[in-house]
Amino acid sequence: MITFTEIKDSFFHLLFPHVCSGCSSDILDKQSTLCIRCMEAMPETNFELHPDNPVEKKFWGRLAVQQATAQYYFTRESLMQHLMHQFKYKRNKELGLQLGHMMGESIRKSGRFAVDALVPLPLFPAKEKIRGYNQATILCEGMAESLHIPVLKEVVIRSQHTETQTKKRRIERWQNMEGKFILIKPELIRNKSLLLVDDVITTGATLEACGAEILKGQDVRLSIAALCYAARN
Ligand SMILES: [Zn+2]
Repeated sequence: MITFTEIKDSFFHLLFPHVCSGCSSDILDKQSTLCIRCMEAMPETNFELHPDNPVEKKFWGRLAVQQATAQYYFTRESLMQHLMHQFKYKRNKELGLQLGHMMGESIRKSGRFAVDALVPLPLFPAKEKIRGYNQATILCEGMAESLHIPVLKEVVIRSQHTETQTKKRRIERWQNMEGKFILIKPELIRNKSLLLVDDVITTGATLEACGAEILKGQDVRLSIAALCYAARN
């Protein structure tokens, strides 16, 4: 027998269809932003299971990283690119939370990461204002649900260089675009194992700059996790 709730649900679904963030097909599972087909098509790296994976190797000789991983491969014109666009520019926060949750689950199941807290890589404040949120913070919030650890949002900040840049040489200006990271609350991270989180890892330069600043904290151990890994061609 069809219950009243089922009729009500179908009616609402008709009026407000719940569609997949990947392929726009109808999905009935309200808990998910992705359909089963897209979930199965997600290009998982499984890096979290493997020491010396490509993300860990990226930081060799550059930054003292305990463990590092990226959850999915990022390629152009792919499902992942579409999802990243939805998450970063279309304000699809729900998708970001779910992706973060899946990152957290993989990290937890791997048993390889011992972390006390999550630190989102900060955005430039002006950029965050335009976007409405920091995508790394949303990922952290999703991850926190499965890892059961806190998110430390204001431990490190990112500031734009204030000195006039017109006089600088072009190469210096380019370097300055990444801005500067400043550890403002070292007391909060003392003697902690932290997981620094970002959406995409390409060269690793931004994560390296932020990670180096975090490691100025007393007795801090650092690991890194990104949603996507974009190999440079
Ligand atoms: Zn789909």
